[in-house]
Amino acid sequence: MKQDYEYIVLGLGGFGSAAAYWLARRQGGDVLGLEQFELGHVRGESQDHSRIIRLSYHARHYVELAKHAFTAWHEVEGEAGEQLVLRTGGLDLGPRVSVIPLTTYSESMDAAGVRYEHLDAGEIMRRWPHWRLSEDIHGLFQDQGGIAMAARGNAAHVRMARQHGATLLDRTPVDSIRHLDGEVEVIAGGHAYRARRLIVTAGAWSNRILQHVEINLPLRVTKEQVTYFSAVRLADFQPERFPVWIWMDDPCFYGFPVFGEPGPKVGQDAGGQEVTADTRTFDVDEPARDRVVKFLERYLPSALGPVLYTKTCLYTLTPDRDFVIDTVPGRPEIAVAIGGGHGFKFASLVGRILSELAIDGRTPHDLSEFRLDRPILQMENPPINYMV
Ligand SMILES: Cc1cc2nc3c(=O)[nH]c(=O)nc-3n(C[C@H](O)[C@H](O)[C@H](O)COP(=O)(O)OP(=O)(O)OC[C@H]3O[C@@H](n4cnc5c(N)ncnc54)[C@H](O)[C@@H]3O)c2cc1C
Repeated sequence: MKQDYEYIVLGLGGFGSAAAYWLARRQGGDVLGLEQFELGHVRGESQDHSRIIRLSYHARHYVELAKHAFTAWHEVEGEAGEQLVLRTGGLDLGPRVSVIPLTTYSESMDAAGVRYEHLDAGEIMRRWPHWRLSEDIHGLFQDQGGIAMAARGNAAHVRMARQHGATLLDRTPVDSIRHLDGEVEVIAGGHAYRARRLIVTAGAWSNRILQHVEINLPLRVTKEQVTYFSAVRLADFQPERFPVWIWMDDPCFYGFPVFGEPGPKVGQDAGGQEVTADTRTFDVDEPARDRVVKFLERYLPSALGPVLYTKTCLYTLTPDRDFVIDTVPGRPEIAVAIGGGHGFKFASLVGRILSELAIDGRTPHDLSEFRLDRPILQMENPPINYMV
């Protein structure tokens, strides 16, 4: 079997499958992807029917990046011949006095020239009568928001990477990486592979790989969960009638219309316990689910119904929740991306950016906020702020 490649992608979740696709689209058969589990497994961060995609963000650079994220998905849809993003509109709502003020979102959209509507509680309930809101609640509605079809998107990236000639190996854990004469050697499944460029998209396992290049990031891995509820009137929660939404306060909740399962999906953002990727369980966090139920009882009671199921998943959190998208300082042959628990909407774009870093050594996108050597990532006990 071929053991020398131009490009190796380590980890084939959301980011890695996208990187393999964008690399193979330009470089064909010189791409090797290595995944420790089966492709599409549920032990990482990227597997479910849906993830929220939105232009609405707390900082302008994310809004600008999100515009390109939509474009990247659109290009992939064109080649895949299937829909991967479903527009439902996106509603950000919460108390006027909140730890996540909506003004940061409206200001960054203003700066980026993105249209949105500012709605008071009455108008929100007029448009979507299932909400039960008091007068102190307000919201922003951005009509391009919607669903990134996660499992379908990953499968499309994998399928098309292979069609372009990439070799993608599942059940092939990478044990170590090392520099060799300006290249990288990767030991996996008892074989040594060499490449000119390595892309590390290892999610919750990132530090285990990065230790081989003397990097240990202050990441926290948490076990998060989402619950599908069998709402009584499913028609009220169809995507054409009910948008994706985020409750902008601490605790922060979010939800989806009916998509992939016969019931709306709701979760709490960053509400899970700290775990490790290897020792985590798949058990339901009952107190966390109770918090979601109590929220729905109060604000969105008709979404409640018997629980269909609760699905667990991992977040890999940087202390500031900003991504890592960078090459290793002093080692331009190794690029890294970590999603900070909100990365899926950008997955195809991040894959494209990583392919540009690997092939061209540069990208047109401004990655200055996502540097590996930013001060907060050098601290042993950095201040943490997940509510952004
Ligand atoms: C419940 C939940 C809800 C979310 N909601 C949203 C949302 O609404 N919108 C949004 O944009 N984002 C959301 N996110 C975040 C988003 O899903 C993640 O940021 C994104 O999927 C990260 O993808 P990844 O490729 O970095 O990680 P993963 O998909 O976990 O991929 C990493 C891969 O690397 C592999 N790997 C690791 N080490 C090795 C090794 N040594 N050898 C071989 N393979 C290895 C792993 O097995 C894994 O497959 C959510 C996440 C969760 C958990």
